[in-house]
Amino acid sequence: MSLISSALKRIKPSPTIAISNKARELKAAGRDIIALSAGEPDFNTPDNIKEAAIAAIRRGETKYTAVDGIPELKKAICAKLKRDNDLDYKPSQVSVGTGGKQVLFNALVATVDAGDEVLIPAPYWVSYPDIVEFCGGKPVPVMTRLEDNFKLRPEVLEAAITPKTKWLIFNSPSNPSGAAYSHDELKALTDVLLKHPHVWILTDDMYEHLVYDDFKFVTPAQVEPRLYDRTLTMNGVSKAYCMTGWRIGYVAGPEQIIKAMGTLQSQSTSNPCSISQWAAVEALNGPQDFIASNNAVFKGRRDLVVSMLNAAEGLTCPTPEGAFYVFPSCAGTIGKSTPGGVKITDDEVFATQLLESEGVAVVNGSAFGLGPAFRISYATSTEALEEACKRIQRFCAALS
Ligand code: PLP
Repeated sequence: MSLISSALKRIKPSPTIAISNKARELKAAGRDIIALSAGEPDFNTPDNIKEAAIAAIRRGETKYTAVDGIPELKKAICAKLKRDNDLDYKPSQVSVGTGGKQVLFNALVATVDAGDEVLIPAPYWVSYPDIVEFCGGKPVPVMTRLEDNFKLRPEVLEAAITPKTKWLIFNSPSNPSGAAYSHDELKALTDVLLKHPHVWILTDDMYEHLVYDDFKFVTPAQVEPRLYDRTLTMNGVSKAYCMTGWRIGYVAGPEQIIKAMGTLQSQSTSNPCSISQWAAVEALNGPQDFIASNNAVFKGRRDLVVSMLNAAEGLTCPTPEGAFYVFPSCAGTIGKSTPGGVKITDDEVFATQLLESEGVAVVNGSAFGLGPAFRISYATSTEALEEACKRIQRFCAALS
């Protein structure tokens, strides 16, 4: 009898975390490494949010709370969904978990049976397929193309739907491509979904606030209210509020699913950290103006990185609407060799050789289900980004 369960054997450690760890190890060993692999803002949590947490500790908010969130936070989430997304939810339709990742995990474990198909537009966030696999479901990658800026085309979505399709996982702005769907682009997809009433929509709106150039964020249930009854709208405070370590994510949707997720959470982690929940109340209800100033910095970095990468031989990089990632294609480098004689056969070799020879850590696109490409996180200092892009240009120029 095997010690490790078959469910666990179906999943693998997150490749983005693995590459960040490798970069950290090399740095500790004295190498000059620039890590562009981590998915978190380099900005600190705003002071008013930290103060709210300190006040919560002083008030003694240090006990177990309701399993899926304190009423004050659920109320703040309902107000946020109305204010930003024009969506009406009651607190009984909201579930709060330990980060967006737990919320997604709960939603899928609560609903996916063996053989259920889950459509995942590629390139995708690395955890989606693994969570589906863990549930015994079948992740079905749905391909996008560089020439469409990695956005799903309606006819491709239509062709991927089968009688076994349970969910479409939708993520805009996207990790890893940064692509975000306009109202019309999303409407074209919701029109397809309307025709298939057995398909549920799990939308991951984690990067909602990180959009540039006056882009207007929209979410599926807002664009097509007739999908409201079969949509789970997921979001969290990790990225826009610079709170990755606090671990608060949330979801709103039909009560039946929310209740099932609560049952699961009651038998696993119980409530998310009480102090973090109070910090999240302040994040959602408090001043939002720091987001615009952070975004001005992110936009400057995005423009710098996109232009420097497009100047590198063999790379093509679209300008994404949001998040803090770019996803350049490295198709023009495949088949070339490094000065040391290593042939670039795919994007994994590209990323490994880039780390070896220039000390720049990126994540190869195939880890996100679409290659040859790689992901750069520009949530790091402008100086480090400029230096990293120079090294990438040098690495590409040395290939022959
Ligand atoms: N969804 C996407 C698309 C993400 O990129 C991430 C984090 O990297 C998450 C969800 C999870 O966020 P959290 O840190 O709140 O678990």
